[in-house]
Amino acid sequence: MKSTMMRAPLNLSHFLERAGQLFGKQEIVSRMPDKSLHRYTYADFYQRSRLLAEALTRAGLQRGDRVATLMWNHYAHYESYFGAIASGGVLHTLNLRLSPQDIGYIADHAGDRFLIVDDILLPLFEQFRDKVNIERVIVVSLTGQPVPDGMDDYEQFLNTATGDFEYPEMDENEPCAMCYTSGTTGRPKGVVYSHRSQVLHSLVQAMPDAMGLSGHDVLLPVVPMFHANAWGVPYTAAMLGVKMVFPGPHLHPDDLLPLLVSEKVTLSCGVPTIWLPMVQMITNNAGKWKLQPGLRLTVGGSAVPESMIRAYADQGIEILQGWGMTETSPLASISRVSALQSELDEDARFRVKATQGCTMPLVTVRAVGDDGEVARDGHSVGEIQVHGPFITGSYYNVPVSEANFSADGWLRTGDVASIDELGYIRITDRSKDLIKSGGEWISSVDLENAIMGHPAVQEAAVIAVAHPKWAERPLAVIVLKPGEQASGEDIKQHLAGQFVKWMVPDAYVFVDSIPRTSTGKFLKTALREKYRDWQWDDAAA
Ligand code: ADP
Repeated sequence: MKSTMMRAPLNLSHFLERAGQLFGKQEIVSRMPDKSLHRYTYADFYQRSRLLAEALTRAGLQRGDRVATLMWNHYAHYESYFGAIASGGVLHTLNLRLSPQDIGYIADHAGDRFLIVDDILLPLFEQFRDKVNIERVIVVSLTGQPVPDGMDDYEQFLNTATGDFEYPEMDENEPCAMCYTSGTTGRPKGVVYSHRSQVLHSLVQAMPDAMGLSGHDVLLPVVPMFHANAWGVPYTAAMLGVKMVFPGPHLHPDDLLPLLVSEKVTLSCGVPTIWLPMVQMITNNAGKWKLQPGLRLTVGGSAVPESMIRAYADQGIEILQGWGMTETSPLASISRVSALQSELDEDARFRVKATQGCTMPLVTVRAVGDDGEVARDGHSVGEIQVHGPFITGSYYNVPVSEANFSADGWLRTGDVASIDELGYIRITDRSKDLIKSGGEWISSVDLENAIMGHPAVQEAAVIAVAHPKWAERPLAVIVLKPGEQASGEDIKQHLAGQFVKWMVPDAYVFVDSIPRTSTGKFLKTALREKYRDWQWDDAAA
């Protein structure tokens, strides 16, 4: 017997069509470099995305050609997401925070043929231009300045289209986009998404028990559109006709807070380092910021401290922690208190929200130790491995290796975690960040969370430093809140009740800021390098 269902391929262009047909009046707002607001509607977005698709096709784009973007979050990047894909091309978002050498390596490795670039990022492009074979450079003039000779003005490029465009017929497994891992560990590697993977990711992401994104939301993605598909939200938002508020290049809390208020944002997303200082501003100026009641923040990319979840909850703002990777499209799990946990008291609920949560539908997970899969008891830890239709099974033009994939084809994430009976994942470390002291593992994530729970602490990162007696000991690098005081001894006292003695760091360094990766996470490799020759005093010997 055969099913009678149609074989309609899953295709992201369907979301563009749907957005044009159903949500034409919905607004899309973008903050420009001069901080003015650009406003238009989904009807404009739909028409212009299609014009871009047609113009790219007329310019010679062949199926599967890479269309790179070097852009901040704004309307033209949103159009590029859909225009590049609708033409049959592969959208390749370049991370503008990487060094020019790395961007050049990535654009060259990916074989990018077209580039759509913000005019304010042209000086960056010039620094890697000679390393790449980009044939056509299309410049979005955000400042109104004329576009340099030899490059296309984005608006004029759109004008080369006639409006007579038909989507190419695509198989759902054809590539639609690619992203490189940011290279916190090793050389950046390319992940190639398919129409099918991203449609499934969007459907799952929108679910009430997942991100709970709906057409009633107003969404401000702080997460850059060059970081893991902006966590997939551009696709999901177009599917639902969500009002979008793009922050442009202005990502400081001083800029974001007024925008959250004025545009009545109901959902925003970004890494913890964006939200840590912001809650301070909200708390210190009680009543000043009239945020939307029920505002939610999806936070991920690195562990979200429980203290931060509580601080936002005190302000009536809910934090949802998501976990994932460029390799997982990226949302693989999300932390919500489930119906089966409804009896939990408030403290226990916060503890649940501080885990990395349960996997999304279609994603399966296991924690694997030296002797195979470890028990789902909430204590036993192993490396997290994942499998599913929006998880990468290989890297672009890199042979599949045991270091990245298990023998039975699961993605090895390098994250070390326990999984409990209800499937909640609790990440204790990345395998490269583990601290092994006197033969015992110490979780840097647990220590960081606890230190960030001290009222004087704004940020903290804990790293392993070589130690003559214990092999390694934890060292805490701390940024205090402005105007606050605390000593290493104070922090040690604060940790004493929460950890057994040998887990508590002996060394505390106070700094003005912690170096960040290109995607805003703490750059622990730089810290390890900086404190490599740390001299331990006798207390720890
Ligand atoms: P990179 O690996 O270069 O940092 P990604 O942005 O793909 O690039 O990062 C994925 C990694 O980020 C995960 O493997 C994990 O270590 C970390 N991560 C993401 N979300 C969380 C989270 N909620 N808690 C802890 N770690 C997280």
